[in-house]
Amino acid sequence: MNGSVFDAIVIGAGQAGPPLAERLTGAGMKVALIERALFGGTCVNTGCTPTKTMVASAQAAHLARRARDYGVVIEGAVTVDMARVKARAQAVVAASRDGLENALRTLPGCTVLRGQAAFESPTQVRVGDNVLSAPRIFINVGGRASAPRMPGVGEVPHLDNSSILALDRVPEHLVVVGGSYVGLEFAQVFRRFGAAVTVVEMQPHLIAREDPDVSTAIEEILRGEGIAVRTSAECIGFAPHERGVLVNLVCTEGEPAVVGSHLLLAVGRRPNTDDLGLERAGVATDARGFITVDDTLATSVPGIWALGDCNGRGAFTHTAYNDFEIVAANLLDGASRRVSERILAYALFIDPPLGRVGMTETQARASGRPLLVGSRSMTEVGRAVEKGETQGFMKVIADASTRQILGAAILGVGGDEAIHGVIDMMNARASIDAYLRAVPIHPTVSELIPTVLGEMKPVKQA
Ligand SMILES: Cc1cc2nc3c(=O)[nH]c(=O)nc-3n(C[C@H](O)[C@H](O)[C@H](O)COP(=O)(O)OP(=O)(O)OC[C@H]3O[C@@H](n4cnc5c(N)ncnc54)[C@H](O)[C@@H]3O)c2cc1C
Repeated sequence: MNGSVFDAIVIGAGQAGPPLAERLTGAGMKVALIERALFGGTCVNTGCTPTKTMVASAQAAHLARRARDYGVVIEGAVTVDMARVKARAQAVVAASRDGLENALRTLPGCTVLRGQAAFESPTQVRVGDNVLSAPRIFINVGGRASAPRMPGVGEVPHLDNSSILALDRVPEHLVVVGGSYVGLEFAQVFRRFGAAVTVVEMQPHLIAREDPDVSTAIEEILRGEGIAVRTSAECIGFAPHERGVLVNLVCTEGEPAVVGSHLLLAVGRRPNTDDLGLERAGVATDARGFITVDDTLATSVPGIWALGDCNGRGAFTHTAYNDFEIVAANLLDGASRRVSERILAYALFIDPPLGRVGMTETQARASGRPLLVGSRSMTEVGRAVEKGETQGFMKVIADASTRQILGAAILGVGGDEAIHGVIDMMNARASIDAYLRAVPIHPTVSELIPTVLGEMKPVKQA
């Protein structure tokens, strides 16, 4: 193996590396794929899969507590068996991880290596005692939770998105520092499991990159379930406490500190690029360690590409997978696909979920274009009423001159699915008039999207 020459080396078996290895070997290349930890990376092992599995358990608990609303009687209290919740999540994770590892190990033309990969030169990668070389190297190393530089953080026990999955018991009081996507999903999950939960956020609003009406509605949903929300926490610090962890805050309202039995830090992610020997290959990174790429995901060094979270161009499984599609199409199909063609879409998987695509209203207004905006409360969506889940609203923003949709938010039951109608229209570059002629299925959440489009109003720009 030492000194082995390949046609391509893939570093990392996350969301882009494995499908790329499959395409490259399918095109007749000899490929080495290196993984240092768990096949499937963050999404499968500590991200999407376990969290969405837990969201499902939490939703079951929530619905069971609301059973009476539907005329269903459950005798006795609804309780959560955390060990079984965990076992269920781990079973789903293991099936996905093992399936992927098996597929890679049996992929003709692919050599799988376990270990830490690091560059020796622009065409050489070391894994333990082995030095592999290839004219093409694809980096798919992902990222990990960042540890914030907050006073006292090193003096208190704390959890991140990986270690919180190992909990066998529901915490008495979980304090979540970071009111964004990762933090809010865990906050609601553990609240529904029975923990007291406080969310601490430095910004004046939760999930600050969303429009204020969206973040306010999310805050109302979470507060409605008994989650304490402490925004504008300007001065977060930690100290050990007899009941767990003392979290200091200086907030615009409320007590200056909160004591939790457990602390979850969900304050962002950093790329796994610091131990990759990038300097020996000459691969450039930005100040935060993300690998610098051009619009085709090529790095500063010819023959080396960076895909997924490590390039800072996306932070989702579907953006990592789309990176694979772009690189593979350009390399193997003679295409000229670019990242800038991608219309960003994502979801926040609280319950009810937020489905998002394209610009926020704030961004659209800042662009200075003439705008049309339409919105509708979920209380006016028949299917939501029938399901007894009327929290949230939907909002669509369009360019008044081109009549194309610029962005949308659907916060409400089925919002993560219904948003795909808008995603498809935007990717087809279709006008809202085409959407108005569609005949959607009744009763669905999606059927109201054309109604919202038909009722859009011009927005006065400042
Ligand atoms: C709690 C949480 C929930 C999430 N939920 C969602 C969601 O619902 N939907 C969604 O789209 N996204 C979600 N994400 C984000 C998603 O997990 C990531 O965007 C996605 O996993 C990125 O894929 P990737 O291939 O870039 O990296 P990763 O999946 O992180 O894979 C990188 C792989 O590279 C390996 N590696 C790293 N360095 C080396 C090295 N030097 N040598 C060898 N191997 C190496 C790692 O071990 C890892 O297996 C979530 C993230 C978190 C933290």
